[in-house]
Amino acid sequence: MTMTTDDIKQQRHQARQQRLKAQVDAAVAAASAEKGLLLVITGNGKGKSTSGFGTVARAVGHGLRAAVVQFIKGSWDCGERNLLAQHGVQFAVMATGFTWDTQDKAADIAAAEQVWLQAEQFLADPTLDMVLLDELTYMLSYHYLPLERIESALLNRPPGQHVLITGRACHRRLIELADTVSEVQNIKHAFDSGVKAQRGIDW
Ligand code: ATP
Ligand code: MG
Repeated sequence: MTMTTDDIKQQRHQARQQRLKAQVDAAVAAASAEKGLLLVITGNGKGKSTSGFGTVARAVGHGLRAAVVQFIKGSWDCGERNLLAQHGVQFAVMATGFTWDTQDKAADIAAAEQVWLQAEQFLADPTLDMVLLDELTYMLSYHYLPLERIESALLNRPPGQHVLITGRACHRRLIELADTVSEVQNIKHAFDSGVKAQRGIDW
């Protein structure tokens, strides 16, 4: 039986896929380390906080214990908070001050320091498997919290504890410290065509 060009292509494709599978299997087998991870989800596209909260939901679904710190007041109503609080997730929310259109710098800094104290407690609590620091990046870009303090709390956290940091324009030191970093790219957003923020999608 003679082979057609299509047969040859198919065979090559199969061989390539087999080699790829062998490589992936080997990499999976070699990845044996277990440790608390630092994840950063940054970039200008939509999906950073939802990814952070989704990971918390994933962990809680496995019976892990999680806490969330929200560094931006934003919209007080927050679907994930309503849900996850019912499942034992502790929340610390930045009290007054900082929103997207921040006005009062002194009040913002006081609120940042206040909520950071709570974050430090979470990051020192060995009974917590996961801590989400939602919108933490702005505390650094606005110089509301010193990098050294954040770095020290992250480095000294319990070894098994996972930490997620979200927000745009993440400080490069946090990116260096992180194990996994994803950048959400904006392709388009409904807001740009005049659609207002939608409950269940945007908060
Ligand atoms: P989400 O909470 O939906 O995952 P996010 O955390 O990636 O969004 P943020 O920068 O925290 O994004 O912005 C929060 C709010 O701004 C959300 O209501 C979100 O839909 C909206 N938003 C996010 N990205 C964009 C964008 N590129 N253009 C306009 N609005 C955006
Ligand atoms: Mg967000």
